[in-house]
Amino acid sequence: QVVTRIAPSPTGFMHIGTARTALFNWLYARGRGGKFLLRIEDTDRERSTPQATEAILRGMRWLGLDWDGDAVSQFERAGRHAEVAQALLERGAAYKCFATQDEIAAFREAARAEGRSTNFRSPWRDADPASHPDAPHVVRIKAPRDGETVIEDAVQGTVRWKNADLDDMILLRSDGTPTYMLAVVVDDVDMGVTHVIRGDDHLANAARQSLIYAGMGWELPVYAHIPLILGPDGKKLSKRHGATGVEEYQKMGYPAAGMRNYLARLGWSHGDDEFFTDAQAREWFDLDGINKAAARFDFKKLENLCGQHIAAAEDAALLTELEAFLDATGALPLTESQRDGMARGMYCLKERAKTFGELLDKAHFILASRPIEPEPKAAKALDLVSRGILSELTPHLQNASWSRDGLEQAVNEFAESKELKLGKIAQPLRAALAGRTATPSVFDMMLVIGREETLRRIEDAAG
Ligand code: GLU
Repeated sequence: QVVTRIAPSPTGFMHIGTARTALFNWLYARGRGGKFLLRIEDTDRERSTPQATEAILRGMRWLGLDWDGDAVSQFERAGRHAEVAQALLERGAAYKCFATQDEIAAFREAARAEGRSTNFRSPWRDADPASHPDAPHVVRIKAPRDGETVIEDAVQGTVRWKNADLDDMILLRSDGTPTYMLAVVVDDVDMGVTHVIRGDDHLANAARQSLIYAGMGWELPVYAHIPLILGPDGKKLSKRHGATGVEEYQKMGYPAAGMRNYLARLGWSHGDDEFFTDAQAREWFDLDGINKAAARFDFKKLENLCGQHIAAAEDAALLTELEAFLDATGALPLTESQRDGMARGMYCLKERAKTFGELLDKAHFILASRPIEPEPKAAKALDLVSRGILSELTPHLQNASWSRDGLEQAVNEFAESKELKLGKIAQPLRAALAGRTATPSVFDMMLVIGREETLRRIEDAAG
C-alpha cells in the first residue's frame, strides 16, 4: 500500500509551496487507495509555535487535503528517536563523539588554512568505547569515506554524491535531543511511508538520510524531489511577486477546487489538460508527469482556472464555500433572506466570477436592500426621460409571466412598441434594481429578486 506524508515545520504561515507538496502527496496516495499522513515537524522548540501548527491545519482543511489518522507531532517522538540512535551505536553504524566546540572550530580553521575539506573528521570515530570519558557527547553517524552514495529519484533521476563530501552528521545532540535528520528517517519508517515527495531543497538530505536507513538495515522509500516554485520572473517565489501564504489565497476569494487544479499544474502536467476535476487529477497524477524544471507561478492562469471552477461548481456547494469565505475574512454572515437570494441567484452569479469577491460584487443587487442607493453613474442613468420609461414599463411587468423568457418577451415587446433600443430600457432598469450600471442581466436580476421587489425598486427609482 502506498503511504505518503506531508511534514511541515510549524514556524510561520503555510507557504504555497508546502500546499503544492501536500497536494502532490495527497493526489498520489488518494489515486492509489493509499494513505496520506500529516506530521508536524515541531522539534525546533524555539521556532515552532502552536499558532503555526493551527495555520497549517486550517490551510490543509481549506484545500480539502484530508489526512489519515491524527497529525503526528515529531517532538513527542523524541524518545523513540533516541532509541534508534542507541540501536545505531550498537550496530556500529554510529559513534559517540566527545569533541568540544573549540576542537571542532580549530579543526575547521586548520583545514581551511590547508585548503582541505572542512567536514569535521572526529578522532572518536574509531575510538575504543573503553577509552570514552564520562563527559557530554553527541552521537554521529559513521558515514562511509570512500565510494559514492547514490539516490534513485523519481524526478531527478540518478543522483550521486562522493562519500568524501559527506560528513559524520550528528544524530543526537549532547542534551540527548534528536536532530532533524534522524527524526525524519525514524518517523518515516515508523509511519510506514513508502513514497517521499518533497521539495528538491531536501535532495542532499536524502543522501545523508540514506546512511541512517543503511545503518539500520531499513529499506529506502521511493524519493521524488520536486522543483521549487518560482515567481513569474524566474526568481524564487517571494512576497515581492504577490501572496505566498495559503490563507492569503483563501482570503483573496479563490475557490479551493481552482486552487487545487492550479497547484497540481504547477510542476506537473498531463498532456495539454489545464482544467480538470479532483477525480481526474487523482486518476492522472503520477510521478512521471512531474517536471524537472522549476515551475513559474502564473497569477493569470490561477484566476482563469478559478473562474472555470466557480462556473462549473454546483450552486449549493458554492454557497457553502462562499459562506466559509465570508467567515475566513471576518465579514458578517449572510442573513436568512440574503442567503435565499444567493441560492436563487447563484446560477447567474457564478458566470464569469474568478473569485468569491467578484461573485459577491455581482450579488450586490441581492445583498443590498431598499432603498437602493444609486452610484453616481447609475443616478445619471435615472434622468427624467428614463424614469418616465420605467413608469411606463411597470404595467407590462405587472402582467408578465415571471420567467426568464416571459420577462424578456415583456421588455422586448415594450421596447418595440415604444421604438426604443433595449439599452434605453436596460440601463435605467439596472440602475433602479441594483443602483449600478454594470450588473448581471436585468432579466436574471428581476427573476432572482421576484416581481414584488422588482416593482418596488422601480417605483422607488421612478418616483
Ligand atoms: N520539515 C521539512 C520542511 O518543512 C520537510 C521534511 C521532509 O519532507 O522530509 O521543509
